[in-house]
Amino acid sequence: MPAELACFEERCRARFPVTEIIYNCPRCGGLLEAVYAAPEGHPADWKRMWRDRRTSNAPLDQSGVWRYRELIGFLDDFRHVVTLREGNTPLLDAPRAAQYGGLDRITFKHQGFNPTGSFKDNGMTCGVAQAMRLGARRVACVSTGNTSASMAAYASAAGLDPVIFIPHGNISFGKLAQALEYGARTFQVEANFDQILALVRQLAERLGIYLLNSINPFRIEGQKTIMAEMLDQRDWRVPDWVVLPGGNLGNVSAFGKGLRELKAFGLIGRLPRLAVVQAEGSAPFYDLYRATDRSHLNAVTHPETLATAIKIGDPISWPKGLHEVTTSGGVVEKVTEQEIADAKAVIGRCGFGCEPASAATLAGIRKLTAAGTIAAGADVVAVLTGNVLKDPDYIHRYHTGTLNAPDGTPLRCTFANPPVVVSADAERIAALLGN
Ligand SMILES: *Cc1c(COP(=O)(O)O)cnc(C)c1O
Ligand SMILES: [Zn+2]
Repeated sequence: MPAELACFEERCRARFPVTEIIYNCPRCGGLLEAVYAAPEGHPADWKRMWRDRRTSNAPLDQSGVWRYRELIGFLDDFRHVVTLREGNTPLLDAPRAAQYGGLDRITFKHQGFNPTGSFKDNGMTCGVAQAMRLGARRVACVSTGNTSASMAAYASAAGLDPVIFIPHGNISFGKLAQALEYGARTFQVEANFDQILALVRQLAERLGIYLLNSINPFRIEGQKTIMAEMLDQRDWRVPDWVVLPGGNLGNVSAFGKGLRELKAFGLIGRLPRLAVVQAEGSAPFYDLYRATDRSHLNAVTHPETLATAIKIGDPISWPKGLHEVTTSGGVVEKVTEQEIADAKAVIGRCGFGCEPASAATLAGIRKLTAAGTIAAGADVVAVLTGNVLKDPDYIHRYHTGTLNAPDGTPLRCTFANPPVVVSADAERIAALLGN
């Protein structure tokens, strides 16, 4: 069976050719997903083949996404694939963070090591490949950050014309800088996310634009491979928990789908539980998870958090996200700005750091171990979604004690490490260093 697009809604499940340019189900408006038959062959052989590809010099094999191409078979061939060697992100042990989070041990899967510094690259290499295959000349997204940076990079590398729409005044400087440097035409529009999206949809057909927003099902396919790579790196030992931040909920949808497929294909014997962490001022998915009626999500009209990558009031992939959290026996947690800030500083001291949204994972783990939901001895993989340098302004404010929550409340900078201004005086410096 060739790949198809299927409506995610249980009561619809309509199918469409994989080459049809649709972003939602034309029948019911539901989310779409790519579906295919199980790859041929034996799980043990695939595992060996994927491991062998790590020593190959072929570009596709060197990609931490396309190395697992048997799992993402939506293309007829690989002519259109552009890889910047995305994925290949490390699993890092972090004793300091484990202790802070109330765990004996923690491992971070650090997606900030990607070419543009976030997990969006895993998905974007697939989204852009699909755009090329469809013959698009331009690609576009509405994004407050990492999606823009990633799309700009991959589209430019592929010779496409990237167009970015940003809700005015709503982006961290590092991310905007990347979009500009990678050559995206960037429009800062004075409207909110939903208004801009409607505008772009109107323009898409007229201008030959293929949309690479968060619901794009091919981006989800690429992000699935984060779980395959993580398991490959662990010799296929399944962790008890996978913890990640939640914004539009594309990533939890991707992880859940990827893990379910790995189980269905016989590559793993059980599913890890998925724990999604949101920021308190932007936690509609947390509210949904807690509600007795989970049939619709109540959007947060004015989402607020300094963690801009998860500042999403109306998460578009919530039906998929909810399905994956419940199927895996997972949970949804929320954390305060203070908890994110401190957890972030602790991750920094582990020697790698992350952007604010990523630190919600450790803050959430600390709460979930305190509540007894996650046991101290549990085998936990937390996904750090973005690089430490994405948001240097936040870091500088934290360490100089000038970081305020969105409502203006000063945050306690418990782990502040401010720079010290000193004259060129050896005695004085030695004294400051305690000698
Ligand atoms: C996009 C992003 C998120 C949120 O992911 P969703 O798939 O929207 O839930 C979290 N952290 C970072 C760094 C991101 O770039
Ligand atoms: Zn449908």
